[in-house]
Amino acid sequence: MSLNSILERKASNDVSLLAAQRWKLWLAFVAVLTAGALMWFDAWFSSALRVQRYAPTLIGTGLGLLALVAACCAVRCPRCGKRLVWYALSKPAHSWVEWLLAETTCPKCGYSSSKAESRSSARE
Ligand SMILES: [Zn+2]
Repeated sequence: MSLNSILERKASNDVSLLAAQRWKLWLAFVAVLTAGALMWFDAWFSSALRVQRYAPTLIGTGLGLLALVAACCAVRCPRCGKRLVWYALSKPAHSWVEWLLAETTCPKCGYSSSKAESRSSARE
C-alpha cells in the first residue's frame, strides 16, 4: 500500500489524530523528497548552482534531518502534546506509517479524535 493511497483513503473518512496536522506531514514529506533529489542528483545541482560538488549532498542531508526532527517535534496529540511521529517511529518498520495515519486514539492520554469529531458535529 503506497503512502498516497493511505492518504487518499484517510482523507475521505478523516477522523485520524492527525486530521488537522496532516499539512505538517506533507511538508516534511516534500522536504525529504527534496533532500533525496539534492543527494541523488548532486552532480547536476553542483554544476547548475555553481557550488562545490559536496554542497548539494550536505544541504540535502541537513534538510532531511531537519524535516525528520521537525515532524517529530511538531506533530502532537491535541490534548496532552505527545509526539505522535516520534511514537510511531518506535513501531515496527512495516506498520508505523499506517499507525500514524489511521490511529484515532492517543496512546498516552486516550484522547479520541473520532469522539471529538462526533461531539462537534452534534453541536451543529
Ligand atoms: Zn494525548
